[in-house]
Amino acid sequence: MGLNRAPMERRGIRERMKVLSVASECVPFVKTGGLADVAGALPGALARLGVEVRVLMPGYPAMKAALPEDAEPRALARLPGGRASVISAQAAGVDVMVLDSPRLFDRPGNPYLGPDGRDWSDNHLRYGAFCRAAARIATNGVGGWRPDVVHLHDWQAGLTAAYLKLGRRPAPPSLFTIHNIALQGLFPPAATTPLGLPRGGFHPGGFEYFGQVGFLKAGLVYADRISTVSPTYARELTRPEFGMGLEGVVASRRAEVHGILNGIDLEVWNPETDPQIAARFSARSPARKAGNRAALARRFKLRDDGTGPLFCVVSRLTRQKGLDLLLEVLPRLLARGASLALLGSGDADLESEYQAAAADNPGRIGVVIGWDEPLSHLMQAGSDAILVPSRFEPCGLTQLHGLRYGTLPVVARTGGLADTVIDANEAALRAGAATGFQFSPVSAAALADAVDRACDAFADGKLWSAMVRRAMRHPVGWGASAEAYARLYSELVEPAT
Ligand code: ADP
Repeated sequence: MGLNRAPMERRGIRERMKVLSVASECVPFVKTGGLADVAGALPGALARLGVEVRVLMPGYPAMKAALPEDAEPRALARLPGGRASVISAQAAGVDVMVLDSPRLFDRPGNPYLGPDGRDWSDNHLRYGAFCRAAARIATNGVGGWRPDVVHLHDWQAGLTAAYLKLGRRPAPPSLFTIHNIALQGLFPPAATTPLGLPRGGFHPGGFEYFGQVGFLKAGLVYADRISTVSPTYARELTRPEFGMGLEGVVASRRAEVHGILNGIDLEVWNPETDPQIAARFSARSPARKAGNRAALARRFKLRDDGTGPLFCVVSRLTRQKGLDLLLEVLPRLLARGASLALLGSGDADLESEYQAAAADNPGRIGVVIGWDEPLSHLMQAGSDAILVPSRFEPCGLTQLHGLRYGTLPVVARTGGLADTVIDANEAALRAGAATGFQFSPVSAAALADAVDRACDAFADGKLWSAMVRRAMRHPVGWGASAEAYARLYSELVEPAT
């Protein structure tokens, strides 16, 4: 692809690296959250730097359906869960390796939850086998392809690091990325017996977590490097409020923990070409957003008299996302002449409270419960501001979508939200740098104050449109972050002396 060797080397990026990325979800095949976006987008961004990535995914029905018919399976012997094979192919432009183990993965719907909405009772076997297969592929290769580096994502891939490090054969180095430390994959040791865990790892300095086997902990302890998805979250993880019991482990490896921001796919999220929005626009023509606002108001049956800002939320409805706080702030938001469109699903009580708020405030609050990607695009295009009041947020993607679509983020000052939004404080306004609004601490009072500040700024048309244009020009793609990953892989392959 006409790569120029010298500039890559100068940027600290080794030539022709091969990376096995081990992920339990990946866009466009299976997605429950931001991890899938990263697993799907990073390979393309790395390919532009000459790094070859193959994504190892479990063979869920949706994943297998995306494979070309002529893709050849290769048998993998002695894996828990019975007959298994790995299928290497290109699907939707991503080089994937699919672990086909029908007894473990031939289940439709959410990858982790059964039809009763609870975790599958054999998730330890499903993801333990996945990790074992990953380690086997990384160590022995498949069809002559062996990676130089293994990139592991979240607890579902964490145990791979233990198999690699404690196995008998020389294995490639690994990077473990934390997308969310709240989900740790903890299981009783007896349940994990069939996984053939490496002897010598079950102790507090290994993958034991207070008597249980910790998949995420295995990643933290045994991977050669650790990364997480923003510099601020990397620092926060060493503190008890954020580390979820693993702060000491993260702190003990502080020197090997890197914070690399997620990006978004600039093709999928492009207001100039997006087929899912009502009117296309750019930083040169932000006024055309109005057509989207009108379409969004119609969709949510909002009375749009244009006086106050239209806020939106696109989110899982959970405590993490701080949306219980927003409920408390709704009276203030409405008193300022603003309106709200919310798209999300999750906790039953939050779902019903937001539906009740919409019923009580017809024309001012609109709520859609569910998962709707096309609608999420229209919401980013048609709203004036997006609310992200998370209690913790490793990186966050919806504020990046908001920046790209000139929908100013109102965010809690935590994790990746703190790193990507420039607060409209006096200094930033004077410097012409502000792109949104941050608040701290994460409380209803501080959120209400930020909503007030956003409403005040909206009332100043000139200020608001300057901020919109600036937000739309803020870099939110993968460029710089893909380079950071490529440099990290390079260091792992050729450790600095
Ligand atoms: P998390 O991974 O914690 O859920 P992120 O902000 O990192 O949060 O990523 C969430 C992703 O899911 C974003 O791409 C967002 O647009 C999308 N999303 C969240 N809720 C919905 C929904 N109800 N419908 C469509 N997309 C959604």
